[in-house]
Amino acid sequence: MTQKKRHSKFIFVTGGVVSSLGKGLAAASIGALMENRGLRVTFVKLDPYINVDPGTMNPFQHGEVFVTDDGAETDMDLGHYERFTRATMGKGNNFTTGQIYDTVITKERRGEYLGGTVQVIPHITDEIKGKVLEAAGAGIDLVIAEIGGTVGDIESLPFLEAIRQLKQDLGPQNAVNIHVTLVPYIKAAGELKTKPTQHSVRDLRQIGIQPEFLLCRSEHDLDDDIKRKISLFCNVPTEHVVTCRDAETIHEVPLLLHAEGLDDKVAAALNIWSRAPELDDWREIVRRCKAPRHTTRIAIVGKYVGLTDSYKSLNEALRHGGIANECKVELLFVDSEKLNDGNVAKQLANADGVLVPGGFGVRGTEGKVAAVRYARLNKIPFFGICLGLQMAVIEYARSVCGLDGANSSEFDAQGKHPVIALMPDQRDVVDKGATMRLGSYPCALGEGTLAQRVYGEAMIHERHRHRYEVNNEYREALTQQGLILSGLSPDERLVEIVELEDHPWFLGCQFHPEFKSKPTEPHPLFSSFIAAALAHGQEG
Ligand code: GLN
Repeated sequence: MTQKKRHSKFIFVTGGVVSSLGKGLAAASIGALMENRGLRVTFVKLDPYINVDPGTMNPFQHGEVFVTDDGAETDMDLGHYERFTRATMGKGNNFTTGQIYDTVITKERRGEYLGGTVQVIPHITDEIKGKVLEAAGAGIDLVIAEIGGTVGDIESLPFLEAIRQLKQDLGPQNAVNIHVTLVPYIKAAGELKTKPTQHSVRDLRQIGIQPEFLLCRSEHDLDDDIKRKISLFCNVPTEHVVTCRDAETIHEVPLLLHAEGLDDKVAAALNIWSRAPELDDWREIVRRCKAPRHTTRIAIVGKYVGLTDSYKSLNEALRHGGIANECKVELLFVDSEKLNDGNVAKQLANADGVLVPGGFGVRGTEGKVAAVRYARLNKIPFFGICLGLQMAVIEYARSVCGLDGANSSEFDAQGKHPVIALMPDQRDVVDKGATMRLGSYPCALGEGTLAQRVYGEAMIHERHRHRYEVNNEYREALTQQGLILSGLSPDERLVEIVELEDHPWFLGCQFHPEFKSKPTEPHPLFSSFIAAALAHGQEG
């Protein structure tokens, strides 16, 4: 281990009893607290599934694919980490069992193990340890490593063994384990139950991990008796048994954990000198979430309406726009597959703003076109993101530019007017993975446009995840009929933002601004869109 790495401290976050306990959010909240104590924090997420490329996973099953500046397609927990802290995530901050095995097998094929027997311990575990240590770059005070899955799963065993060893290697006061568990409330008995937590900690101790802290998710506060009982059975000091009560808003979680003294105790356990956290920003955010002055309703017209985690960053960014405007944002998920020109007015009647998010595949696209048309003609604030921009361009081409049957070549390969298409140099590439435009790209904003007014800057950088682009062969036809190309790549080859005049707020962007919005710094496009929706609602 290098000298530099020895200076970082580590927190390992595991989860027990059930999944969906909000481990990612807990890790992000701990990060927020420690960062506000003046520490430089980063994260790493270890995912036990075998997929080598999380980007190909179905968002219906797994929630959103979060995209980083450097173009990694990652687990959505990395979104929580970035939203709650200043840490910038990238390729080195998320890895799966599949990626670990892939590396080890490649090394074996290259003969790097000199003919030795390649085994889970030490080869797989060493690879995992190496990746966790690598996350501790220069100047990082604290690495928070979250292990996906639930303790007791077969899949997560190599990860747990790796962190067990790491803690040993790093020595006392350099690493702590925080185990997130569930303390259910049984209504009939009127009692909180500690048994599931006891069993989960027993599972951990069986594999050699004694957690220092227990973060107990619960509907109610844990009183001292319950904490003492958990402490006794789990071999964890009572002061380290911390309640993580269900919060009204996720932004309250750092404050709730701070009220339990978690950050102080973790700093003490790791022997890190740090100041008391500055949490005024978070208090103000929570105040605005809990007592909004206005309400606005945004229709999200998309395909994954059954699992709203598929739009996690988007939902959060809209809420951030609400925080900026002291307003509650109600999300109306509208299934685009059920939408058409005939029923759109009724389906979107309650919406103050219409948003068409990103997506892949033809399913539901005609419904999205109908939603764009309705918002354009009725002057309802419209925000199109990625596929949403493409839908807006298609709608404009068909309805205003007279390009009948205009479409994206993704949905209609033989169409007469492919206004959205692959760039010419991408058309013959066979490997689909290689054709995706991923990660951060610059975009120059046109003078006097809505986009420039909103950003207040001439050059911006935003994250992408798509294959298709506005077809340059149709630029003239579109702009002649009034579509404004307000954002272009600096070399002007790619259309990044389109907008309309004579409309209160109509903008589509080829990138995903939602990945860069934070509660502490709401993204300007979302703040502006929510302001426009709010104004529209108040007029109506
Ligand atoms: N399917 C479209 C493309 O690949 C849009 C992708 C997206 O919305 N992320 O270009």
